[in-house]
Amino acid sequence: MSDNNYQHLYVVIEVQDDKIVPVSLEMLGEARRLIDSFNKKYQSNEKVVAILLGHNIKEICNTLIEYGADVIVYADSHELKNYRNNIYTKTISQIAQDEKLSAQISPSSKFKKPRYMFFAADSIGRHLSSTVLVALDSGLASDINKLEISDLKITHQHKTDGKPVTYEKTLEMYRPDFSGFLWTTILCLDNKNPQIERDYHPQSCSIIPGVFEPIAPDKGRKGPIIEYMPTFDQNDLRVKILSRQVIRSGVDFDSYKTVVSFGRGIKDAPEQNIKLVEQLAKTLNAEIGVSLPISKKPFVVSENVSSKYMISDRVIGTSGRRISPMLYVAVGISGAMQHVVGMQDSRFIVAINPDENSPIKDECDVFIKGRMEDVIPKLVEEIKQQSLAVNA
Ligand SMILES: Cc1cc2nc3c(=O)[nH]c(=O)nc-3n(C[C@H](O)[C@H](O)[C@H](O)COP(=O)(O)OP(=O)(O)OC[C@H]3O[C@@H](n4cnc5c(N)ncnc54)[C@H](O)[C@@H]3O)c2cc1C
Repeated sequence: MSDNNYQHLYVVIEVQDDKIVPVSLEMLGEARRLIDSFNKKYQSNEKVVAILLGHNIKEICNTLIEYGADVIVYADSHELKNYRNNIYTKTISQIAQDEKLSAQISPSSKFKKPRYMFFAADSIGRHLSSTVLVALDSGLASDINKLEISDLKITHQHKTDGKPVTYEKTLEMYRPDFSGFLWTTILCLDNKNPQIERDYHPQSCSIIPGVFEPIAPDKGRKGPIIEYMPTFDQNDLRVKILSRQVIRSGVDFDSYKTVVSFGRGIKDAPEQNIKLVEQLAKTLNAEIGVSLPISKKPFVVSENVSSKYMISDRVIGTSGRRISPMLYVAVGISGAMQHVVGMQDSRFIVAINPDENSPIKDECDVFIKGRMEDVIPKLVEEIKQQSLAVNA
């Protein structure tokens, strides 16, 4: 397919309880930045298109324009009120391939598919992005936290038959690897090898919440708001929501000024070390958080300790909670990027760790070099002495 067959950057918006989920505005902000520099560089007029699904959602469309979208395509139906993967997938893939709709979005230059597509890397977006991209027969990069658009010269045995080929307007999608410390760049490239020629568009990714900034809303921005009527058959509607109950987390970080979190640094004596963290948290009147691996129960501890602390409700980071207490204490946590996103807005950060090369050192205000087994008892004692002195 020629390059003209792809246009625009589509952003799939998420709404919960009639409110826009913050990552959606963050994605719009990043989309705006990318498309503005794209249009300048390629002297084009491509757009940020927000896709919104739900029920009674028309009011939200103007807000999306204020936050950077050029065009809104929304599908409003009671069937779309709550997320159901099959009909959300069908609606979004219909929107992405509908020729009449593409003529409305770009009256002067028709296109067949979006050039780029963004989803949120949260529990809905991760699932939805994978099924939509299967329906659109393209690739997907998940959990992205940096994006650039550039022209790249690629020589690849499979993709280019071993010959150098320039890929214009390529979305470079960066993600942390599974350790959280190394970086991978993912490209979604058409096959330009004549023997296996085929397109891979849209170039798509899911985006980690909290890494991009929304733009300042501009009430003066205007843009077309297009209603889309998806078509479903009986088979699509076979999954029904009979009742819906929102289960709120039992861990209420927001009521605490201080959060003490622990990670795999407890490894040498897990049960005793969790007791030390409990002591520190009690002294500081703090709630307790954990790193993601702790929620997978990596160490054997007694059942009551495991069921209280080794749970997903306490995870801080991209897969858990994003918090901003006055004081955050990271005990035995290395500072992987996915964890840092969840705590970097804390007012003051202290880390306890024997390894001064741990990345957490770059994230904290005070780094206490030492093993938690040695540091916490002294710290607890000192805090008690200080508060006695203050209250005397
Ligand atoms: C898609 C994806 C999503 C993810 N989401 C999250 C997320 O939301 N939250 C999250 O936390 N992680 C997440 N991760 C995992 C993340 O990449 C890291 O693997 C994880 O945060 C590391 O956990 P940790 O710091 O407890 O363990 P480690 O990286 O093993 O660090 C342990 C630290 O303890 C220190 N230590 C050792 N002994 C002691 C001692 N005696 N006293 C004190 N310190 C000691 C070590 O020096 C080290 O720095 C995610 C990963 C992926 C791939």
